[in-house]
Amino acid sequence: MKYDIKKLYEAASLDEAISLLDEHPEAKIIAGGSDVLISIRGGELAGCTLVSIYGLDDLRGVTVDEDGTIRIGSLTSFTSIARNEIIMKYLPYLGEAAASVGGPQVRNIGTIGGNTCNGVTSADTASTLLALDAIIEVKGKDGYRRIPMKNWYIKAKVVDLKPTEVQTAILIPKESYQGYFGNYYKYSARHAMDIATCGCSVNVKLSDDKKTIEDVRIAYGVAGPVPLRAGTAEAAVKGRAVNLETLELFSEKVKDDINPRTSWRASKEFRTHLMTELARRCLTESISRSGGIFQ
Ligand SMILES: Cc1cc2nc3c(=O)[nH]c(=O)nc-3n(C[C@H](O)[C@H](O)[C@H](O)COP(=O)(O)OP(=O)(O)OC[C@H]3O[C@@H](n4cnc5c(N)ncnc54)[C@H](O)[C@@H]3O)c2cc1C
Repeated sequence: MKYDIKKLYEAASLDEAISLLDEHPEAKIIAGGSDVLISIRGGELAGCTLVSIYGLDDLRGVTVDEDGTIRIGSLTSFTSIARNEIIMKYLPYLGEAAASVGGPQVRNIGTIGGNTCNGVTSADTASTLLALDAIIEVKGKDGYRRIPMKNWYIKAKVVDLKPTEVQTAILIPKESYQGYFGNYYKYSARHAMDIATCGCSVNVKLSDDKKTIEDVRIAYGVAGPVPLRAGTAEAAVKGRAVNLETLELFSEKVKDDINPRTSWRASKEFRTHLMTELARRCLTESISRSGGIFQ
């Protein structure tokens, strides 16, 4: 299979990648290539110059910093995330999201960095990272920057990444995950090799007696041009009892936050219905995983 690539530079270090991007401002970063190569074949990126960062092993893997922050290297593949012990212990719902991507080949080559740098609303890990208040770490010729996930998406397919910058890691602070339980639900027509019609990620922190919602966070993919949080719904149920009325209120209130579109996959009306239903189901599941007691 032939790809129309003008020149491919393979960086041997992060600093070399940054220098290459500085010297070749027209160049595109390629990690696993599961988006980039499709765009080259499709013509949008035909004839492009590429800077490959795929060999930068320092950007691979999941670790826990001294302060409890979970650091996910941007080149970590979906397969590695889904099987990682730290993820399984502290963030199993991010593992669920990673495991829902494409099929085994795509999960082996595709990276979490690519999934968040492509700026795509349906990216399966993005809603969970947004619901976790993740922080994106990037490095460019002016050094490192840290960007809260809520400010990362500028518009459809555009993220806050400056020329010469490479995304190096995704950070989950301890206070974002400690005491929270959650789940991710991908609704798609097929159970493999399909892009989400809608993705919903919820995580919840209950009171010590498991009867009250202390905190809840919900984020969607495909509810708008970029992944988004449903802040009205979150605020409406914080401090409320774990009961059916709270679930109902939560699912009703997400309508104030979402703005799905009609596409060939689904109508706006169907997506709206899905999103309200998924809010209810994902919150129910998250409460159940938290050991919640319905009143
Ligand atoms: C058959 C198939 C099925 C798929 N199914 C799904 C699915 O179910 N769910 C889903 O979410 N996605 C799916 N995808 C899309 C794709 O696999 C993911 O978006 C993947 O995360 C992209 O990662 P990558 O490393 O391959 O990115 P690449 O293709 O290498 O790059 C993607 C974009 O991110 C930029 N980029 C990558 N890494 C960095 C970095 N570290 N710093 C700065 N910029 C960077 C690139 O310049 C490019 O713009 C599918 C793709 C294919 C081909």
